[in-house]
Amino acid sequence: MNFSRILTIWYSNNKRDFPWRNTKDPYCIWVSEVILQQTQAKQGLPYYEAFMARFPTVFHLAKADESEVLKLWQGLGYYSRARNLHQTAQYIVKTYGGYFPGSYSELIELKGIGDYTASAIASICFGKATAVVDGNVYRVLSRYFGIDTPTNTSKGIREFKALATTLIDKNNPGDHNQAIMEFGSTQCKPSAPNCTDCPLNTACVAYAERKISAFPVKCSKPKITKRHFNFLVFLSNDRKTLFEKRNSKGIWQNLYQFPLVETKAALDPEKFSGNNAIKTLLKNTPYRFSLYNERETVHKLSHQHLYTRFWIVQVEKLPQDGIPISEVTKYPAPILIANFIDAFGFSI
Ligand code: SF4
Repeated sequence: MNFSRILTIWYSNNKRDFPWRNTKDPYCIWVSEVILQQTQAKQGLPYYEAFMARFPTVFHLAKADESEVLKLWQGLGYYSRARNLHQTAQYIVKTYGGYFPGSYSELIELKGIGDYTASAIASICFGKATAVVDGNVYRVLSRYFGIDTPTNTSKGIREFKALATTLIDKNNPGDHNQAIMEFGSTQCKPSAPNCTDCPLNTACVAYAERKISAFPVKCSKPKITKRHFNFLVFLSNDRKTLFEKRNSKGIWQNLYQFPLVETKAALDPEKFSGNNAIKTLLKNTPYRFSLYNERETVHKLSHQHLYTRFWIVQVEKLPQDGIPISEVTKYPAPILIANFIDAFGFSI
C-alpha cells in the first residue's frame, strides 16, 4: 500500500471531529485554516465557532467593522492575519460576487493567502491536487524519508513542496492533505510520537535509525530583540482613561493600548517623572503615580520579547480626551493589555 493510502485509511479511523471537517465551503475552510495557523485545533475551536456565529458568510465578514473582527481575534496574535481576512472578504465580494476562485493560482493572489492556505482551499474545496506543506507535514516527511535539509531555508521549502506534490493522491487530494496534517498533529507529534503503533513504522527512516528527535532539521533561530514597554494607565477623577489606536505598521496595528513609552532598559521609578516622553504625554498635568508590576511581564512574540510594566497615573483631569473606564473592554486590544485589564478590574 502506498504512503497516501496508508495515511488516508489512518485518517478515516482516527480523525478528530471538528466543524471544518464537515464542510467543503471555501469560506469555512479559509477561516479555519487561518485560525489553525495561529493555534492548535482544540484551542482554535472556540475562536472558529465565535467567528462563524458572528460572520457566517463572506458577506457578513466583508460588511463588518474592522474593530469587531480584531476583537473576535483577540488572543490569537498575528493580528495582520485578521485584518487580511477582513480585507480579502471585501475583495472577494467585490471582485467575485462572494464566490471563491477555485484555482491555486487565483487563490494565492489574494491578500493574506499564501501557499499553504491556497493549497488547502484548492484541494479540500475544489479537488485540486495541490499539496499542503506546514510544520506537521515537514515533520512527517522529514522523519519518514530521513530528509535532513533544513525546513526553514528556501532549498528546504522547495524540496519538501516537490516531495509532497509527488505523494498527493490526485483522486482524493483534500483527504490526503487533511490526513497528513492530522497525522502530524496527533500521531507523529513533535515530542513522543506514537511510533510503536504507527502504520508507517515499517518504512520510517527516523524510526529505523532511532533518530526521531533529529528531524525535522532547522537552521538556527533568528536573533530575538528585547524591548522595554511602559504603559501609562491614566485614571481621572471623572473615571476616564486614555486608550489609543496603534496606527503604525508593525506589531498590533489598529489594536488599542494605553499610552506607551518605550525605554532602553527597565524604567527606574525614580526616573519616571524626568522621562521626556512621559513629560510630553502629561503636558504639565499634576499627577500621582504608582508601579503596578515591579517585575516586568515578559510577552514573547516571534522575533521580539517585550518586557512590560504598567504604571498607574492618577490625575484630576486627563491631559487630553479619553474614554470612560467602563468602555475599555469594548476595544480590541493585544492579549497582554487585555490580561492586564482583567487583572486590574478595569471594567468594574
Ligand atoms: S514511525 Fe514514528 S516518526 Fe515515523 S512516521 Fe510513524 S510516528 Fe512518525
